Amino acid sequence: MFAMVKNVIKNLFSRPSTRLFPYQTREFFPNVRGSIDNDPEVCIYCGACQMRCPSEAIVVNRAEKVWTINPYKCILCGVCAQICPKKSIAIHSEYVHPQSSKVKKIRQKKVVEEAQSHA
Ligand code: SF4
Ligand code: SF4
Repeated sequence: MFAMVKNVIKNLFSRPSTRLFPYQTREFFPNVRGSIDNDPEVCIYCGACQMRCPSEAIVVNRAEKVWTINPYKCILCGVCAQICPKKSIAIHSEYVHPQSSKVKKIRQKKVVEEAQSHA
């Protein structure tokens, strides 16, 4: 009984043991693998990342220059970022937030249409 009362008094006057999430967040540790992204303007759509991905999370459409990742299949092994010849894949610390539906991340190269000269 005495031990419990001592504990209650101690807890009343000490700082909270947990953070007030989401108002207080913790910095990510260095080199944390949270999520994968690709720069569509640097990527050459060679398909190497798709071939090497162990969980078949990446799909590359060479013809239409579209790179897609299913973040719910990705196991964040980092192989795609290591083998990418253009180093266009980045591993971010920020993790994939919970969502109500399984959304894929799609990256597509911007197509710059040249104005045709009728001169
Ligand atoms: S390996 Fe790199 S350059 Fe090739 S498709 Fe994947 S992200 Fe693009
Ligand atoms: S990190 Fe690994 S599992 Fe995730 S997309 Fe890249 S190769 Fe696939």
